Amino acid sequence: MCCAAAETTVERFAPSPTGPLHLGHAFSALTGHDAARAAGGRFLLRIEDIDRARARPEWEAAIFEDLAWLGLAWEEPVLRQSDRLPAYRDALLGLWRRGLLFACSCTRRDIEAAASAPQEGAEPPRGPDGLVYPGTCRGRWPGPAERTEPPGDMALRLDMEAALRALGPRADTLGFTELGAGPEGESGHIPVTPDALRATCGDIVLARRGMGTSYHLSVVLDDAAQGVTHVTRGRDLFEATRIHVLLQALLGLTVPRYRHHRLIRDAEGKRLAKRDDARAIRLYRAEGATPEDIRRMVGLAPLTPPSAP
Ligand code: GLU
Repeated sequence: MCCAAAETTVERFAPSPTGPLHLGHAFSALTGHDAARAAGGRFLLRIEDIDRARARPEWEAAIFEDLAWLGLAWEEPVLRQSDRLPAYRDALLGLWRRGLLFACSCTRRDIEAAASAPQEGAEPPRGPDGLVYPGTCRGRWPGPAERTEPPGDMALRLDMEAALRALGPRADTLGFTELGAGPEGESGHIPVTPDALRATCGDIVLARRGMGTSYHLSVVLDDAAQGVTHVTRGRDLFEATRIHVLLQALLGLTVPRYRHHRLIRDAEGKRLAKRDDARAIRLYRAEGATPEDIRRMVGLAPLTPPSAP
């Protein structure tokens, strides 16, 4: 019997065009690109522009320019999430018809009020998406029995209990492989338990009102559609991976391997954000830095080691 074909590594970098790329993005993109190259694999770029209010074409153009300057090469055409809305809608429709979603009209303020009301003084539970939803709208609006299509003008939330029931015994075997490390140094096989999903995620939003999708839904559908085998991204998304693993199980998608990497921090030790223009790659470029300088600044080994004297 002959051997199974070796899997080709497919890495991706998935920035949102909502601001300039900074050193943290450079680190993520270079780490994924280096890993793809080392494995003789493929490297993809995906533009995560579902937030139409914040995404700008000029930021997208700046992303291409900065990444090319850094020496990255990616496959064309580049997938843009704004072109994938029909795929997101189909997945939502399927989940809705299985009775796994409910419509929600709560504002952030409603959620804060309801989440903190019952346990005066005690901290309400929080997770990767902030406050765990207190359940206000669950069962409140007509569901799949009366309505075959979800309402388009409301947020759609996953009914966590219904989702865990739908998975049956599989709900107890969820997990993923961590090739990097989580915030507490977690690595190797990371179990994703129903208790953790209930306690820290709850009824997460899968379609934001007026957006037709959410980060979590789009990212799992796109990683699967693009055949991504390795997801390299910042450690700040480690907790969100729980949600992604649950969605992959519900949607019948393969779980990629994850490599969560350390975060690049500013001089005060704070994580860099898009607003930290001072760390923008384009500013370093304007000041005459080279791509190798950027690699050094984020702690990556030079691509071409200095030749021996
Ligand atoms: N679009 C996300 C961001 O810019 C990255 C998502 C991911 O890598 O899963 O933070």
